[in-house]
Amino acid sequence: MAVQGLSLVLVERRTPSATVDSGEAASARTLPAERLDDLVAALRGRGYRVVAPVLRERAVSYREIESAAELPRGWTDRQEAGTYRLERDPRDLYFGFTLGAQSWKPYLFPPRLRLWTARRSQDSFEVSEELQVPPCDLAAIAVQHRVFLGGPHHDPDYRRRRELTLIVAVTCGQAAATCFCTSMGLGPRAEAGFDLALTELRDEAGHRFLVEAGSKLGAEILAELPTRPAARADQEGAERVTAMTGAQITRRMPPGIADVLRRSYTHPRWDEVAQRCLACTNCTLVCPTCFCTAVEDTTDLTGVANRDRRWDSCFTSQHSYIHGGSVQASTASRYRQWMTHKLSTWFDQFGTSGCVGCGRCIAWCPAAIDITEEAATIAASPQEIRTPGDPLAKRVGGAPRFPGSPRSLLRGVGRVDPGAVPGDGTC
Ligand code: SF4
Ligand code: SF4
Repeated sequence: MAVQGLSLVLVERRTPSATVDSGEAASARTLPAERLDDLVAALRGRGYRVVAPVLRERAVSYREIESAAELPRGWTDRQEAGTYRLERDPRDLYFGFTLGAQSWKPYLFPPRLRLWTARRSQDSFEVSEELQVPPCDLAAIAVQHRVFLGGPHHDPDYRRRRELTLIVAVTCGQAAATCFCTSMGLGPRAEAGFDLALTELRDEAGHRFLVEAGSKLGAEILAELPTRPAARADQEGAERVTAMTGAQITRRMPPGIADVLRRSYTHPRWDEVAQRCLACTNCTLVCPTCFCTAVEDTTDLTGVANRDRRWDSCFTSQHSYIHGGSVQASTASRYRQWMTHKLSTWFDQFGTSGCVGCGRCIAWCPAAIDITEEAATIAASPQEIRTPGDPLAKRVGGAPRFPGSPRSLLRGVGRVDPGAVPGDGTC
Protein backbone atom coordinates (compact mmCIF):
# COMPACT_ATOMS: atom_id res chain seq x y z
CA MET A 1 0.00 0.00 0.00
CA ALA A 2 1.33 3.42 -0.87
CA VAL A 3 0.40 7.02 -0.26
CA GLN A 4 0.20 9.65 -2.98
CA GLY A 5 0.08 8.04 -6.36
CA LEU A 6 -1.68 5.05 -4.87
CA SER A 7 -3.76 3.53 -7.55
CA LEU A 8 -5.33 0.46 -6.10
CA VAL A 9 -6.26 0.27 -2.47
CA LEU A 10 -6.66 -3.29 -1.39
CA VAL A 11 -8.83 -3.34 1.66
CA GLU A 12 -10.73 -6.54 1.75
CA ARG A 13 -9.85 -10.10 0.96
CA ARG A 14 -12.91 -12.14 0.18
CA THR A 15 -11.28 -15.53 -0.04
CA PRO A 16 -8.15 -16.94 1.52
CA SER A 17 -5.09 -16.71 -0.64
CA ALA A 18 -2.18 -19.08 -0.83
CA THR A 19 0.90 -18.10 1.10
CA VAL A 20 4.17 -17.70 -0.69
CA ASP A 21 7.67 -18.42 0.37
CA SER A 22 9.85 -15.41 1.02
CA GLY A 23 12.42 -16.17 -1.61
CA GLU A 24 14.52 -13.80 -3.59
CA ALA A 25 12.95 -10.49 -4.50
CA ALA A 26 11.58 -10.58 -8.01
CA SER A 27 13.33 -8.45 -10.60
CA ALA A 28 11.54 -5.29 -11.79
CA ARG A 29 9.27 -6.00 -14.73
CA THR A 30 7.15 -3.94 -17.06
CA LEU A 31 3.39 -4.08 -17.43
CA PRO A 32 1.96 -2.53 -20.61
CA ALA A 33 -0.62 0.18 -19.85
CA GLU A 34 -3.22 -1.59 -21.90
CA ARG A 35 -2.78 -4.59 -19.63
CA LEU A 36 -3.51 -2.62 -16.47
CA ASP A 37 -6.87 -4.28 -16.37
CA ASP A 38 -5.07 -7.59 -16.01
CA LEU A 39 -3.79 -6.35 -12.67
CA VAL A 40 -7.28 -5.39 -11.54
CA ALA A 41 -8.59 -8.75 -12.68
CA ALA A 42 -5.77 -10.60 -10.96
CA LEU A 43 -6.43 -8.85 -7.68
CA ARG A 44 -10.15 -9.46 -7.87
CA GLY A 45 -9.47 -13.05 -8.76
CA ARG A 46 -7.56 -13.45 -5.52
CA GLY A 47 -10.52 -12.21 -3.58
CA TYR A 48 -9.60 -8.58 -3.17
CA ARG A 49 -12.04 -5.75 -3.35
CA VAL A 50 -10.26 -3.20 -5.47
CA VAL A 51 -10.85 0.38 -4.43
CA ALA A 52 -9.41 2.99 -6.74
CA PRO A 53 -9.78 6.64 -7.76
CA VAL A 54 -12.77 7.36 -9.96
CA LEU A 55 -14.54 10.48 -11.19
CA ARG A 56 -17.59 11.28 -9.16
CA GLU A 57 -19.50 14.54 -9.11
CA ARG A 58 -16.69 16.45 -10.80
CA ALA A 59 -14.00 15.29 -8.38
CA VAL A 60 -11.74 12.32 -7.85
CA SER A 61 -12.73 10.04 -5.03
CA TYR A 62 -12.12 6.44 -4.11
CA ARG A 63 -14.60 3.75 -4.95
CA GLU A 64 -14.61 0.03 -5.64
CA ILE A 65 -13.94 -0.70 -9.28
CA GLU A 66 -14.30 -3.77 -11.43
CA SER A 67 -12.01 -2.78 -14.27
CA ALA A 68 -9.26 -0.30 -15.13
CA ALA A 69 -11.69 1.43 -17.49
CA GLU A 70 -13.27 3.09 -14.44
CA LEU A 71 -10.06 4.95 -13.58
CA PRO A 72 -10.04 8.73 -14.37
CA ARG A 73 -7.82 8.34 -17.38
CA GLY A 74 -7.09 11.59 -19.22
CA TRP A 75 -8.05 13.91 -16.35
CA THR A 76 -5.97 16.14 -14.12
CA ASP A 77 -6.75 18.48 -11.28
CA ARG A 78 -6.00 22.11 -10.47
CA GLN A 79 -6.05 23.02 -6.80
CA GLU A 80 -5.64 26.39 -5.06
CA ALA A 81 -6.95 27.89 -1.84
CA GLY A 82 -10.72 27.34 -1.95
CA THR A 83 -10.59 25.90 -5.45
CA TYR A 84 -10.71 22.42 -6.91
CA ARG A 85 -11.05 21.89 -10.64
CA LEU A 86 -10.79 18.91 -12.96
CA GLU A 87 -9.48 19.42 -16.46
CA ARG A 88 -8.85 17.26 -19.49
CA ASP A 89 -5.25 16.23 -19.69
CA PRO A 90 -3.63 15.82 -23.10
CA ARG A 91 -1.11 13.40 -21.54
CA ASP A 92 -3.95 10.91 -21.30
CA LEU A 93 -2.60 9.27 -18.19
CA TYR A 94 -4.48 6.91 -15.91
CA PHE A 95 -3.13 8.72 -12.87
CA GLY A 96 -2.46 12.25 -14.01
CA PHE A 97 -4.00 13.99 -11.00
CA THR A 98 -2.59 14.95 -7.59
CA LEU A 99 -5.14 14.18 -4.90
CA GLY A 100 -8.81 13.49 -4.76
CA ALA A 101 -11.15 15.22 -2.34
CA GLN A 102 -11.28 12.15 -0.16
CA SER A 103 -8.32 10.19 1.17
CA TRP A 104 -8.12 6.40 1.55
CA LYS A 105 -8.21 6.69 5.34
CA PRO A 106 -11.89 5.75 5.62
CA TYR A 107 -11.04 2.34 4.19
CA LEU A 108 -8.51 1.58 6.89
CA PHE A 109 -9.92 3.63 9.75
CA PRO A 110 -13.68 3.61 9.30
CA PRO A 111 -15.43 6.61 10.82
CA ARG A 112 -18.37 4.34 11.57
CA LEU A 113 -17.10 0.95 12.37
CA ARG A 114 -19.15 -2.10 11.41
CA LEU A 115 -18.26 -4.92 13.69
CA TRP A 116 -19.99 -7.71 11.85
CA THR A 117 -21.83 -8.38 8.64
CA ALA A 118 -23.95 -11.22 7.51
CA ARG A 119 -25.81 -11.68 4.26
CA ARG A 120 -28.46 -14.06 3.12
CA SER A 121 -27.72 -15.40 -0.33
CA GLN A 122 -29.85 -17.41 -2.72
CA ASP A 123 -29.30 -20.79 -1.17
CA SER A 124 -27.14 -20.24 1.86
CA PHE A 125 -26.52 -18.03 4.80
CA GLU A 126 -23.19 -16.31 4.70
CA VAL A 127 -21.91 -14.98 7.97
CA SER A 128 -18.65 -13.16 7.69
CA GLU A 129 -18.27 -12.73 11.42
CA GLU A 130 -20.40 -14.24 14.09
CA LEU A 131 -21.00 -12.89 17.52
CA GLN A 132 -19.35 -14.69 20.36
CA VAL A 133 -21.00 -13.19 23.36
CA PRO A 134 -20.95 -13.71 27.11
CA PRO A 135 -24.35 -14.25 28.70
CA CYS A 136 -24.68 -10.70 30.09
CA ASP A 137 -24.18 -9.31 26.60
CA LEU A 138 -26.71 -11.79 25.32
CA ALA A 139 -29.13 -10.32 27.83
CA ALA A 140 -28.14 -6.84 26.68
CA ILE A 141 -29.04 -7.84 23.14
CA ALA A 142 -32.43 -8.91 24.44
CA VAL A 143 -32.84 -5.54 26.16
CA GLN A 144 -31.95 -3.66 23.01
CA HIS A 145 -34.26 -5.93 21.07
CA ARG A 146 -37.09 -4.53 23.15
CA VAL A 147 -35.86 -1.01 22.61
CA PHE A 148 -35.62 -1.24 18.84
CA LEU A 149 -38.37 -3.71 18.00
CA GLY A 150 -40.59 -3.94 21.05
CA GLY A 151 -42.69 -0.84 20.46
CA PRO A 152 -44.94 0.33 17.66
CA HIS A 153 -42.05 1.97 15.80
CA HIS A 154 -39.39 -0.48 14.70
CA ASP A 155 -35.84 0.23 13.70
CA PRO A 156 -35.45 -1.38 10.26
CA ASP A 157 -31.68 -1.30 10.29
CA TYR A 158 -31.53 -3.06 13.61
CA ARG A 159 -34.07 -5.60 12.41
CA ARG A 160 -32.06 -6.37 9.28
CA ARG A 161 -28.80 -6.75 11.14
CA ARG A 162 -30.36 -8.82 13.83
CA GLU A 163 -32.08 -11.13 11.38
CA LEU A 164 -28.79 -11.77 9.62
CA THR A 165 -26.78 -12.33 12.75
CA LEU A 166 -25.75 -15.68 14.09
CA ILE A 167 -25.05 -15.68 17.80
CA VAL A 168 -22.58 -18.02 19.47
CA ALA A 169 -22.78 -17.55 23.22
CA VAL A 170 -19.88 -18.51 25.42
CA THR A 171 -20.26 -19.38 29.08
CA CYS A 172 -18.17 -17.13 31.28
CA GLY A 173 -15.37 -19.17 32.77
CA GLN A 174 -14.13 -16.31 34.90
CA ALA A 175 -15.83 -13.28 36.42
CA ALA A 176 -14.30 -9.84 36.74
CA ALA A 177 -14.31 -7.96 39.99
CA THR A 178 -16.71 -5.49 38.39
CA CYS A 179 -19.33 -8.11 37.41
CA PHE A 180 -22.70 -8.17 39.16
CA CYS A 181 -24.92 -10.00 36.66
CA THR A 182 -26.11 -12.51 39.25
CA SER A 183 -27.81 -9.78 41.27
CA MET A 184 -29.60 -8.69 38.10
CA GLY A 185 -31.25 -12.07 37.69
CA LEU A 186 -28.76 -13.39 35.16
CA GLY A 187 -25.78 -15.69 35.37
CA PRO A 188 -22.55 -16.86 33.80
CA ARG A 189 -24.24 -19.41 31.53
CA ALA A 190 -26.52 -18.52 28.63
CA GLU A 191 -29.99 -20.01 28.87
CA ALA A 192 -31.64 -18.82 25.66
CA GLY A 193 -31.35 -16.29 22.85
CA PHE A 194 -28.41 -17.90 21.06
CA ASP A 195 -27.90 -20.11 18.03
CA LEU A 196 -25.01 -21.98 19.57
CA ALA A 197 -23.61 -21.88 23.08
CA LEU A 198 -20.17 -23.05 24.07
CA THR A 199 -18.79 -23.95 27.42
CA GLU A 200 -15.10 -24.59 27.45
CA LEU A 201 -14.01 -27.52 29.55
CA ARG A 202 -10.52 -28.49 30.53
CA ASP A 203 -10.16 -31.24 33.07
CA GLU A 204 -8.97 -34.82 33.35
CA ALA A 205 -11.23 -35.72 30.44
CA GLY A 206 -9.42 -33.29 28.19
CA HIS A 207 -9.77 -29.85 26.64
CA ARG A 208 -13.15 -29.58 24.90
CA PHE A 209 -16.30 -27.53 24.43
CA LEU A 210 -19.75 -28.41 25.39
CA VAL A 211 -21.79 -27.12 22.48
CA GLU A 212 -25.52 -26.50 22.67
CA ALA A 213 -27.84 -25.50 19.85
CA GLY A 214 -30.41 -22.81 20.57
CA SER A 215 -31.98 -22.52 17.14
CA LYS A 216 -32.63 -24.52 13.99
CA LEU A 217 -29.72 -22.84 12.30
CA GLY A 218 -27.52 -23.62 15.23
CA ALA A 219 -28.60 -27.26 15.13
CA GLU A 220 -27.82 -27.48 11.43
CA ILE A 221 -24.36 -26.12 11.98
CA LEU A 222 -23.80 -28.33 14.97
CA ALA A 223 -24.73 -31.39 12.87
CA GLU A 224 -21.90 -30.59 10.51
CA LEU A 225 -19.28 -30.48 13.23
CA PRO A 226 -17.20 -33.50 14.27
CA THR A 227 -18.87 -33.95 17.64
CA ARG A 228 -19.98 -36.78 19.85
CA PRO A 229 -22.93 -36.89 22.27
CA ALA A 230 -22.15 -35.03 25.48
CA ALA A 231 -21.36 -37.37 28.37
CA ARG A 232 -22.58 -36.84 31.89
CA ALA A 233 -19.07 -35.73 32.84
CA ASP A 234 -19.31 -33.00 30.22
CA GLN A 235 -22.61 -31.71 31.60
CA GLU A 236 -21.29 -31.81 35.13
CA GLY A 237 -18.14 -30.06 34.02
CA ALA A 238 -20.22 -27.25 32.53
CA GLU A 239 -22.18 -26.94 35.73
CA ARG A 240 -18.95 -26.70 37.68
CA VAL A 241 -17.73 -23.90 35.44
CA THR A 242 -20.98 -22.00 35.96
CA ALA A 243 -20.93 -22.48 39.71
CA MET A 244 -17.28 -21.49 40.02
CA THR A 245 -17.78 -18.33 37.99
CA GLY A 246 -20.92 -17.39 39.89
CA ALA A 247 -19.04 -17.78 43.16
CA GLN A 248 -16.45 -15.26 41.97
CA ILE A 249 -19.09 -12.53 41.66
CA THR A 250 -19.18 -10.52 44.83
CA ARG A 251 -20.53 -7.17 43.65
CA ARG A 252 -24.27 -6.74 44.02
CA MET A 253 -26.95 -4.32 43.04
CA PRO A 254 -29.07 -3.61 46.13
CA PRO A 255 -32.54 -5.15 45.94
CA GLY A 256 -35.48 -2.87 45.26
CA ILE A 257 -33.30 -0.17 43.70
CA ALA A 258 -35.94 0.68 41.08
CA ASP A 259 -38.33 1.91 43.76
CA VAL A 260 -35.59 3.53 45.80
CA LEU A 261 -34.48 5.68 42.89
CA ARG A 262 -38.03 6.80 42.31
CA ARG A 263 -38.02 8.23 45.78
CA SER A 264 -34.57 9.80 45.60
CA TYR A 265 -34.92 12.54 43.05
CA THR A 266 -33.48 15.16 45.42
CA HIS A 267 -30.90 12.96 47.12
CA PRO A 268 -27.67 14.87 47.94
CA ARG A 269 -25.67 11.98 46.52
CA TRP A 270 -26.35 13.27 43.01
CA ASP A 271 -24.38 16.42 43.77
CA GLU A 272 -21.64 14.43 45.45
CA VAL A 273 -21.13 12.10 42.51
CA ALA A 274 -21.18 15.09 40.18
CA GLN A 275 -18.11 16.40 41.97
CA ARG A 276 -16.23 13.38 40.66
CA CYS A 277 -18.00 12.75 37.36
CA LEU A 278 -16.19 14.21 34.37
CA ALA A 279 -19.20 13.82 32.07
CA CYS A 280 -16.78 12.03 29.76
CA THR A 281 -19.54 9.69 28.42
CA ASN A 282 -17.37 6.58 28.82
CA CYS A 283 -20.00 4.77 30.83
CA THR A 284 -22.63 5.18 28.15
CA LEU A 285 -20.26 4.28 25.34
CA VAL A 286 -19.17 1.03 26.92
CA CYS A 287 -22.64 0.11 28.11
CA PRO A 288 -24.17 -2.68 25.99
CA THR A 289 -27.72 -1.40 26.44
CA CYS A 290 -27.31 2.37 26.02
CA PHE A 291 -28.94 3.36 22.76
CA CYS A 292 -28.96 7.16 22.59
CA THR A 293 -28.14 8.46 19.15
CA ALA A 294 -27.81 11.76 17.33
CA VAL A 295 -28.49 12.43 13.68
CA GLU A 296 -25.99 14.39 11.65
CA ASP A 297 -26.18 15.80 8.16
CA THR A 298 -22.93 16.31 6.27
CA THR A 299 -21.82 17.23 2.79
CA ASP A 300 -18.43 16.93 1.16
CA LEU A 301 -16.64 18.69 -1.62
CA THR A 302 -17.85 16.24 -4.23
CA GLY A 303 -21.42 17.35 -3.64
CA VAL A 304 -22.50 14.27 -1.75
CA ALA A 305 -24.85 14.79 1.18
CA ASN A 306 -25.23 12.24 3.94
CA ARG A 307 -27.42 11.79 6.94
CA ASP A 308 -25.82 9.63 9.59
CA ARG A 309 -26.93 8.25 12.88
CA ARG A 310 -24.22 8.09 15.46
CA TRP A 311 -23.98 7.17 19.08
CA ASP A 312 -24.68 9.93 21.53
CA SER A 313 -24.64 10.11 25.31
CA CYS A 314 -27.02 11.53 27.88
CA PHE A 315 -23.95 12.82 29.70
CA THR A 316 -23.50 15.60 27.17
CA SER A 317 -25.32 18.89 27.57
CA GLN A 318 -26.22 18.85 23.89
CA HIS A 319 -28.12 15.61 24.14
CA SER A 320 -31.02 17.21 26.02
CA TYR A 321 -30.77 20.54 24.27
CA ILE A 322 -34.06 21.95 23.18
CA HIS A 323 -34.41 25.50 21.88
CA GLY A 324 -33.19 27.74 24.65
CA GLY A 325 -31.05 25.32 26.63
CA SER A 326 -30.44 21.85 28.00
CA VAL A 327 -33.04 20.02 30.01
CA GLN A 328 -30.24 18.29 31.93
CA ALA A 329 -28.09 21.35 32.52
CA SER A 330 -25.92 20.03 35.36
CA THR A 331 -23.70 16.97 35.64
CA ALA A 332 -25.69 15.93 38.70
CA SER A 333 -28.93 15.91 36.72
CA ARG A 334 -27.30 13.92 33.91
CA TYR A 335 -25.91 11.29 36.22
CA ARG A 336 -29.29 11.04 37.94
CA GLN A 337 -31.03 10.73 34.58
CA TRP A 338 -28.67 7.98 33.42
CA MET A 339 -28.78 5.90 36.57
CA THR A 340 -32.48 6.34 37.23
CA HIS A 341 -33.28 5.46 33.67
CA LYS A 342 -31.03 2.38 33.70
CA LEU A 343 -32.28 0.95 36.94
CA SER A 344 -35.81 2.29 37.27
CA THR A 345 -37.68 4.12 34.52
CA TRP A 346 -36.40 1.70 31.86
CA PHE A 347 -39.05 -0.66 33.20
CA ASP A 348 -41.75 1.83 32.18
CA GLN A 349 -40.50 2.08 28.65
CA PHE A 350 -39.36 -1.45 27.93
CA GLY A 351 -40.58 -3.71 30.69
CA THR A 352 -37.09 -4.66 31.81
CA SER A 353 -34.02 -3.30 33.53
CA GLY A 354 -31.62 -1.26 31.41
CA CYS A 355 -28.67 -2.79 33.25
CA VAL A 356 -27.48 -6.37 32.94
CA GLY A 357 -24.65 -6.10 35.43
CA CYS A 358 -21.73 -6.37 33.01
CA GLY A 359 -19.69 -3.87 35.04
CA ARG A 360 -18.15 -2.10 32.07
CA CYS A 361 -19.22 1.32 33.27
CA ILE A 362 -17.32 0.68 36.46
CA ALA A 363 -14.18 -0.56 34.78
CA TRP A 364 -14.01 2.20 32.24
CA CYS A 365 -14.94 5.19 34.36
CA PRO A 366 -11.83 7.36 34.74
CA ALA A 367 -13.19 8.61 38.07
CA ALA A 368 -13.82 5.06 39.30
CA ILE A 369 -17.50 5.77 39.88
CA ASP A 370 -19.28 2.52 40.68
CA ILE A 371 -22.97 2.22 39.85
CA THR A 372 -23.46 -0.44 42.54
CA GLU A 373 -21.79 1.73 45.15
CA GLU A 374 -23.88 4.75 44.18
CA ALA A 375 -27.02 2.66 44.29
CA ALA A 376 -26.12 1.23 47.68
CA THR A 377 -25.42 4.67 49.11
CA ILE A 378 -28.74 6.03 47.92
CA ALA A 379 -30.59 2.91 49.01
CA ALA A 380 -29.14 3.32 52.48
CA SER A 381 -30.72 6.75 52.88
CA PRO A 382 -33.48 7.54 50.38
CA GLN A 383 -34.37 11.20 50.77
CA GLU A 384 -37.60 11.86 49.01
CA ILE A 385 -40.71 9.82 49.70
CA ARG A 386 -43.27 10.02 46.94
CA THR A 387 -46.89 9.48 47.80
CA PRO A 388 -49.01 6.72 46.21
CA GLY A 389 -50.80 9.39 44.18
CA ASP A 390 -47.60 10.62 42.63
CA PRO A 391 -47.58 9.72 38.93
CA LEU A 392 -43.89 8.82 39.08
CA ALA A 393 -44.49 6.45 41.98
CA LYS A 394 -47.35 4.85 40.06
CA ARG A 395 -45.13 4.16 37.12
CA VAL A 396 -42.61 2.30 39.26
CA GLY A 397 -45.14 -0.20 40.49
CA GLY A 398 -42.54 -2.27 42.30
CA ALA A 399 -41.48 -3.90 39.06
CA PRO A 400 -39.04 -6.78 39.34
CA ARG A 401 -35.69 -6.36 37.67
CA PHE A 402 -36.59 -8.73 34.92
CA PRO A 403 -40.23 -9.70 34.52
CA GLY A 404 -40.31 -13.46 34.59
CA SER A 405 -37.10 -15.42 34.29
CA PRO A 406 -34.12 -14.32 32.23
CA ARG A 407 -35.06 -17.14 29.89
CA SER A 408 -38.44 -15.51 29.22
CA LEU A 409 -36.71 -12.23 28.45
CA LEU A 410 -34.24 -13.87 26.12
CA ARG A 411 -36.94 -15.74 24.26
CA GLY A 412 -37.90 -12.44 22.68
CA VAL A 413 -34.57 -12.11 20.91
CA GLY A 414 -34.88 -12.44 17.16
CA ARG A 415 -38.64 -12.21 17.24
CA VAL A 416 -40.83 -9.17 16.81
CA ASP A 417 -43.62 -8.72 19.29
CA PRO A 418 -45.45 -5.55 18.18
CA GLY A 419 -47.09 -3.65 20.92
CA ALA A 420 -45.77 -5.85 23.69
CA VAL A 421 -43.72 -3.04 25.16
CA PRO A 422 -44.81 0.57 24.85
CA GLY A 423 -41.28 1.85 24.21
CA ASP A 424 -40.90 5.02 22.20
CA GLY A 425 -37.19 4.54 21.61
CA THR A 426 -36.21 7.66 23.49
CA CYS A 427 -33.96 7.98 26.45
S1 SF4 B 1 -25.11 0.27 33.35
FE1 SF4 B 1 -22.95 -0.44 33.56
S2 SF4 B 1 -23.08 -2.51 34.42
FE2 SF4 B 1 -25.14 -1.95 33.68
S3 SF4 B 1 -25.23 -2.84 31.59
FE3 SF4 B 1 -24.53 -0.69 31.41
S4 SF4 B 1 -22.26 -0.81 31.45
FE4 SF4 B 1 -23.05 -2.78 32.19
S1 SF4 C 1 -17.57 7.21 32.87
FE1 SF4 C 1 -17.53 8.05 34.98
S2 SF4 C 1 -16.73 10.14 34.75
FE2 SF4 C 1 -17.36 9.46 32.69
S3 SF4 C 1 -19.51 10.22 32.50
FE3 SF4 C 1 -19.62 8.09 33.28
S4 SF4 C 1 -19.70 8.34 35.51
FE4 SF4 C 1 -18.98 10.31 34.69
